[in-house]
Amino acid sequence: MFVIALTGGIGSGKSEAAKQFTNIGVPVVDLDVIAHELTAIGAPILSEIKNIFGHDFFNKDGSLNRTKLREHVFNNPIERLKLEALIHPAIHTKALEQLAENEHNSHPLYQILVIPLLFENNRYDDVINKVLVIDCDENHQISRAMARSQMTESEVKAMMRAQVTRATRLSRADEVIINNGSLTELSENISLIHKKFIKTCIVSK
Ligand code: ADP
Repeated sequence: MFVIALTGGIGSGKSEAAKQFTNIGVPVVDLDVIAHELTAIGAPILSEIKNIFGHDFFNKDGSLNRTKLREHVFNNPIERLKLEALIHPAIHTKALEQLAENEHNSHPLYQILVIPLLFENNRYDDVINKVLVIDCDENHQISRAMARSQMTESEVKAMMRAQVTRATRLSRADEVIINNGSLTELSENISLIHKKFIKTCIVSK
């Protein structure tokens, strides 16, 4: 199984890039999507979150108040470790299951594994063959993240400070797509890198 880790800072265009890989038929496993599914209303892990963090982090309909919990753990490293200890192993198990299912069902030449915090976490090192970084300049990052999530500029900047620097990310990338232009340009760059990955996979088979 050939697995490309797709990563990048907040607002760099990871989800957009992942969507475009899906559009051209490459299987995508996304840790953020899995995290959402595992904490969707009625999911078993919610009762464990409630036991640890209390009812305050839940909406009236029983759904998780993600914004409140995110802010809480962002400002409390110990609380963040508690949440991660609960949720990361479950995400890991699910991600490996999905990769194996894709492999079994469609025998793809390669798959994309979206790992937003790849360099902050080494849990996936064993399954990754190459690292693709989606990068854009910080002004684009801030304005796109704000437009997408209703976060303020200072909230986006605080998230950026909590992540590894662009320089670190770029120094550890096997491939980089610069996403400073239009969505059409991003899509053209995805097609080019797709051809390159296909060639790499054929050669290494
Ligand atoms: P990430 O997943 O890395 O946080 P997203 O892919 O969600 O970032 O992108 C953030 C926002 O910017 C989204 O609304 C997305 O549609 C938009 N976006 C991403 N790339 C571009 C681009 N090249 N041109 C215009 N908008 C973009």
